[in-house]
Amino acid sequence: MPLALSRGPLQRFIFRVRSELPDYGMPMKTSPRTSLTAALLLAFLSVALSSTAQAPVSASPENAAEDASVLRAFAALHPIDVHVHVFKTNPQFQAMLERLNLKLLNILVMDDTLSYRKQLQKQIDDAQALVQSSHGHVALCTTFDPYKFDSPSFTADAIKQIDRDFAQGAVAVKIWKNIGMEIKNSAGQYIMADDPKFEPIYQDIASHGKTLMTHQAEPDVAWGPPDAADPSWSYYQENPQWYVANRPGFPSKQKILDARDHVLANHPNLRMVGVHLGSMERDLDNIARHLDQYPNFAIDTAARMDYLMLMPPEKLRAFLIRYQDRVLYGTDLDLPPEADFSDALKDFQSTYARDWKFLATSAPLSVNGKPIHGLNLPRSVLEKIYRTNALHWIPGL
Ligand SMILES: [Zn+2]
Repeated sequence: MPLALSRGPLQRFIFRVRSELPDYGMPMKTSPRTSLTAALLLAFLSVALSSTAQAPVSASPENAAEDASVLRAFAALHPIDVHVHVFKTNPQFQAMLERLNLKLLNILVMDDTLSYRKQLQKQIDDAQALVQSSHGHVALCTTFDPYKFDSPSFTADAIKQIDRDFAQGAVAVKIWKNIGMEIKNSAGQYIMADDPKFEPIYQDIASHGKTLMTHQAEPDVAWGPPDAADPSWSYYQENPQWYVANRPGFPSKQKILDARDHVLANHPNLRMVGVHLGSMERDLDNIARHLDQYPNFAIDTAARMDYLMLMPPEKLRAFLIRYQDRVLYGTDLDLPPEADFSDALKDFQSTYARDWKFLATSAPLSVNGKPIHGLNLPRSVLEKIYRTNALHWIPGL
């Protein structure tokens, strides 16, 4: 299809490139600023003008025909969504996976506040059945039961169980925010990810060549004042148990992430994917420092695309190009046992379409009522974010 880039967004982009250099530009630190600006402009123009990755799209998310064309471009990459929570399937859901050439990494979480997610073995059995019926479209990221932390055989039991899950095809292990923010040890202290009881588990995961997915801490707003403008604020209104501001004695976000970083430092052979932008959702510089410091660390985008959309676009685009081998596409879409399939199908497809418009096109979009435009990332970068990084960081997918 012909490229019909609107002149407005392109000109606005060029204006911003001129007026504000990104912090993650090309490695030309010694060049004069004018050369760098010119190089960025040339790089952008060459990408924009040579792109055949996608058809142009309009701002209207209701336009199903446009979404279908966007989803065809998405499907052409054989994308992998490394972060979903799916607990059932039906022929329509399977057909969507096949139509989109889509692979899902289905992540298990132990959550003692939800009756279904309290049951580890039931989740594993259901998830393995889903993997079997998916014809290669779903893989499993298992977990272990951290609520059994005080059991004398906790570590050994966890290793035995995840080894069994590996033998049955699981490709990764997840730890969740209840480590750091909910579960306490017998001394009444919140357990942290770097607790010695977890060390043999991490060693075991690394020795099997598997990947650890870590959701540690929460967005900043969970520790801060109420902020209706924050993309996660509605979550805390619905889940006040995770809103921890003004709780005396509650661990700081920094303490929880420091424990996560100790695991990275202590296990250089363990590949870790920090989900939800590694819980550094408002600070690209901090993410960059982590990626520089820990070669065994990557991040996923799950449930944090709105934060990315609110960032300065030139800086974000430069970041994604510079760290193009370290970012994995994920959504956090879910299909719980009680969900309605037709709602879920709409939800999955509209999310994939919106995210593709943002990352792969220069389409005008809106986030929190704010007009933005897509990043129009180079095709080679999109291939990494949407597929090959997942294969590299989570072998077996
Ligand atoms: Zn999740």
